[in-house]
Amino acid sequence: MSLEINHDRCMHCGACVGSCPENSLFLREFVLEVDESCVECGTCVKTCPINALKLRGV
Ligand code: SF4
Ligand code: SF4
Repeated sequence: MSLEINHDRCMHCGACVGSCPENSLFLREFVLEVDESCVECGTCVKTCPINALKLRGV
């Protein structure tokens, strides 16, 4: 299982970045990235207003 980012949908609002309890998400030059500290809790998936995130394998 891993976090999948739909880069075509993401509008870089930053809501998911603030929601992550592990600080695993960050925006670098308008591209959302996830690092290896992600524990796949799903919080960011629920936070994204346009469903640009999903956990692969769920
Ligand atoms: S799944 Fe959880 S730990 Fe992983 S990036 Fe999203 S909010 Fe952070
Ligand atoms: S909440 Fe959704 S649209 Fe906003 S930065 Fe995160 S993935 Fe992109």
